[in-house]
Amino acid sequence: MIEMDDAIRIVLENTQIIDKTRVGLDDVLGRVLSEDVHSDIDMPPFDKALMDGYALQGADIASASQNTPVILDVIEEIPAGTVPQKRVERGQASQIMTGAPMPDGADTVIMVEDTLPHTDTQKVQVLDTTETGRNIARLGEDVRVNQVVLQANTVIRPLEVGILAAVGHIHVEVYRQPVVGIVATGSEVVEPHNKPKPGQIRNSNGYSMMAQVLRSGAQAHYLGIVEDDIQALIQTIGEGLETCDIVALSGGVSAGEYDLVQDGMRDLGVEVLFDRIRMKPGKPLTFGVKGARQVFGLPGNPVSSVVGLELLMRPAIRKMQCMTDLHLPIVRTVLSADFRQTPGRKQFVPAHSIQDKNGTWESTWVGHHGSADLFSMARANSLFVVNAEDAHVPAGTELDLILLNSW
Ligand code: AMP
Ligand code: MG
Repeated sequence: MIEMDDAIRIVLENTQIIDKTRVGLDDVLGRVLSEDVHSDIDMPPFDKALMDGYALQGADIASASQNTPVILDVIEEIPAGTVPQKRVERGQASQIMTGAPMPDGADTVIMVEDTLPHTDTQKVQVLDTTETGRNIARLGEDVRVNQVVLQANTVIRPLEVGILAAVGHIHVEVYRQPVVGIVATGSEVVEPHNKPKPGQIRNSNGYSMMAQVLRSGAQAHYLGIVEDDIQALIQTIGEGLETCDIVALSGGVSAGEYDLVQDGMRDLGVEVLFDRIRMKPGKPLTFGVKGARQVFGLPGNPVSSVVGLELLMRPAIRKMQCMTDLHLPIVRTVLSADFRQTPGRKQFVPAHSIQDKNGTWESTWVGHHGSADLFSMARANSLFVVNAEDAHVPAGTELDLILLNSW
């Protein structure tokens, strides 16, 4: 039996960086860049108007006001997407739309709200002055050509997708997302479309695990339910080792007669690196490797499976893709009520936690009836951490709190 910190260390020491691939802009969200991205253009690519109005020489309107409008000759109309043809001289203006290129000669845009039409449609009345140079975005003021706009190892959020599009980088080199094969073990386990017969239970873990895997940034590959039979387990774990980067099993890792997952792993040449963690929930968690492939045997109880995947497998999924924040965020919290446990294992307690306006977290245990109680667990947004030796933690105690904010 090993400590949780050691288990995490062993998993990460045995996690290798995955290969790279290229994806299109529609498939890039949530992935990790594996290259620096440069801009192929200046941005803005030309001096452009930031307002609908008139491009002119600022010196012409220095004295303009409601009572003494300045009248200018309108020489051209410049909609966005066109190129101005005429130079703006003193006493002249070109009508310009937001996003259109500035005409030569003009150094200022006055917004249309500060003007009035003239009876002569070739002229405009300017009713207010503005600082020379206003309402123009300058060529290259955001980004210069060849500048690095995104660095390798950046996790791509919607904003980064926009940046990739803006610089025309449409084939994006990223780390491949690991494929996680999901196996539910247990002769009592049936697929959710079945009404369980006496002695049976529905496979909830397989589906919550797939959802967690997706939220962790990997791809889920469902390998189905396998009964507690060594040959069947070897067959399915073997298939997973051939087609997936990680094989995640639920159940069959406790000390029972029919807990055969570890035997199956060993038979396939998987090196088992630990099989018991001094943690609650989830003590009988088994981890092994075969080359760069990993196998996680998660306990069958739903709460244990959920917690084990979040705390141990999620960091591996993230490290494979060179993400830098591997772990869920930890903050300090104050316990709202007394909490008692049988000492012996570090406990990760499902809790509903709220933050007050000063930023202080307060946590309330969701009151789950043991590791099978997925329904109470679903009220949790966090896990508070109770040291193995603490039998009684009084209300008001400060503890570490792991935020389950990847859900
Ligand atoms: P095991 O780890 O195989 O001893 O299973 C522990 C408990 O979790 C047993 O009560 C199982 O019935 C239950 N269990 C196992 N697999 C699943 C599953 N896929 N979905 C929900 N519960 C499960
Ligand atoms: Mg079982």
